[in-house]
Amino acid sequence: MLTLLKIDNLSKHFDGIQAIDNLSLTVNAFEIVGLIGPNGAGKTTLFQLISGFEQPDKGTILFNEKPIHHLKAPEIAQLGIARTFQTAKPFANLTVLENVMMGFLRKGQSVPQAQESALHTLEHLTLGDQSKRLADHLSLPDKKRLEIARALSINPRLLLLDEVMAGLRPLEIDNLVIVLRQLKQQLNLTIVMIEHHMRAVMAFCQRIVVLHQGAKIAEDTPSAIQQHPDVIKTYLGTAAC
Ligand code: ATP
Repeated sequence: MLTLLKIDNLSKHFDGIQAIDNLSLTVNAFEIVGLIGPNGAGKTTLFQLISGFEQPDKGTILFNEKPIHHLKAPEIAQLGIARTFQTAKPFANLTVLENVMMGFLRKGQSVPQAQESALHTLEHLTLGDQSKRLADHLSLPDKKRLEIARALSINPRLLLLDEVMAGLRPLEIDNLVIVLRQLKQQLNLTIVMIEHHMRAVMAFCQRIVVLHQGAKIAEDTPSAIQQHPDVIKTYLGTAAC
């Protein structure tokens, strides 16, 4: 099994807060890993470090065996790691299609090529019929899908999803899980997902990593994690379903 992402002894602090504390973690190619834990556990900071928006104090991150912990976000994106942000921030005055074209244009495609690629990506996310609308006019579930389409526009191997289910209703969550599963198959993606909605995590992820105060407190299959006493105590007792 190919290890796509290998994190060793990673630490990051902010003004006296140990956001990530000596964390080690591996993600295999084509795996779907859920990252859960209470508010402030360090989940988004870990994404910030993997995607080059923050630099670690110590530790290493290897992507496809190449060290990336010293690289900045654009270089990491270029290597094939894409992420979504907790708050979707599309270019509000551009159309849905134009928003997704940006990534393909940055990858060197011509305007007609980028248009075609963007439309194809939007169709994957069942947003094809919304392509001409202004991004700002989309509903919340469609904005979430657009955020994923924008991440996919850099042709990633590793997709980091930060709470893409937040604010969605149970049926919308189930639909997005189906779409993500299809995308994973079609695009050969490896996915790490931060999610508070246990319904989505349990349905979608093959393995779950639990963070608490920047450290990993458990790592197992969804069914085993649901029974884990420390996870129930620190998190599942209060998590969304
Ligand atoms: P949530 O589930 O609420 O999104 P999280 O698990 O993603 O939480 P992080 O956002 O990674 O947690 O935050 C971990 C800790 O680091 C928190 O105490 C947070 O306040 C702090 N932190 C994160 N980013 C910064 C920053 N840029 N400056 C200062 N403190 C930060």
